[in-house]
Amino acid sequence: MDQFDILAQYCEQIGCPYRVQEPMSHHTTFKIGGPARLFLSPENVETAAAVLRKAHQLELSVRFIGKGSDLLVSDRGISQVVLAFNPDSACMRLEEERIICQSGASLTAVCVFAQKQGLTGLEFAYGIPGSLGGAIFMNAGAYGGEMKDVLEWVEYLDEEGQLHHLQKEKLELSYRRSFFTSHPKFLITAACLQLSKGDKAEILEKMRDLKARRIAKQPLDYPSAGSTFKRPEGNYASALIDQCGLKGLRVGGAMVSEKHAGFVINYDHATCEDVRELIRQIQEKVKEQTGYQLECEVQYLE
Ligand SMILES: Cc1cc2nc3c(=O)[nH]c(=O)nc-3n(C[C@H](O)[C@H](O)[C@H](O)COP(=O)(O)OP(=O)(O)OC[C@H]3O[C@@H](n4cnc5c(N)ncnc54)[C@H](O)[C@@H]3O)c2cc1C
Repeated sequence: MDQFDILAQYCEQIGCPYRVQEPMSHHTTFKIGGPARLFLSPENVETAAAVLRKAHQLELSVRFIGKGSDLLVSDRGISQVVLAFNPDSACMRLEEERIICQSGASLTAVCVFAQKQGLTGLEFAYGIPGSLGGAIFMNAGAYGGEMKDVLEWVEYLDEEGQLHHLQKEKLELSYRRSFFTSHPKFLITAACLQLSKGDKAEILEKMRDLKARRIAKQPLDYPSAGSTFKRPEGNYASALIDQCGLKGLRVGGAMVSEKHAGFVINYDHATCEDVRELIRQIQEKVKEQTGYQLECEVQYLE
């Protein structure tokens, strides 16, 4: 019996749902990734705190994921314990013009909730296929909006299971970065979004318009992790990749989308190694031809 087995036994005792040898391809929008030896899905913060404390005692490190929409996981799987909140058990509540929400909630569900309450400010996020926690971690953004614009505070657990509260000013939000990017051992558990009163029909119209723009421009019929690269200073990754003639470039089952050069897609049973090699080739060619060094937005886990 090793430390993983002891943690699994503990989960059994406290009623924390878990799976062993769980294929990460089931938990990533790329549909790529080998097994996680132990995959935990706590249904509330108390259970999450208890398993984090136990994992810490056992000297096991825990990797948090949301909906896996910004992840590329090794074909060999993940050597750490993986923890993801179940989006179906996430609660949301309204306090005047604020939404207080658990981090496992799907961002789309939060957008729909806001629209139904007649609250505006979150429309930009409609169609980003992540969880609230992942969106905070990444300071996700689109169409001129970002999480920074709406976040008021965040709660998180440290590796010993202690709960903390951070106000917006301390969240260090900038382009695809947050306080949590430099503190990956902290588990975001809940957040408060400050929105404002708006017209329900207008909010719905804006959400539908942004969704239609995504469908028109993005290769949503193939698995991917969205934009593969961050936007380089003064340019766009997709424009540079297109300019270098790389649309349609393939390595194994991975391909640069013909529809949107910024997306690497899982075209045909791609492996993680296919995607990594394709990313390497794109970076090399773009650097050679334009001088720009593209930085990956997608996070690699092993
Ligand atoms: C088709 C498509 C379109 C996309 N469009 C956009 C877009 O317009 N704008 C944009 O910004 N992104 C976009 N993305 C990327 C992705 O959806 C976002 O980055 C999203 O915020 C990631 O959320 P997630 O829950 O999937 O996080 P994951 O991919 O699961 O994780 C991302 C990072 O967040 C950390 N994390 C997740 N949850 C927690 C938590 N509770 N506590 C601590 N750390 C946590 C993980 O450890 C990891 O480092 C797109 C992706 C796809 C597939």
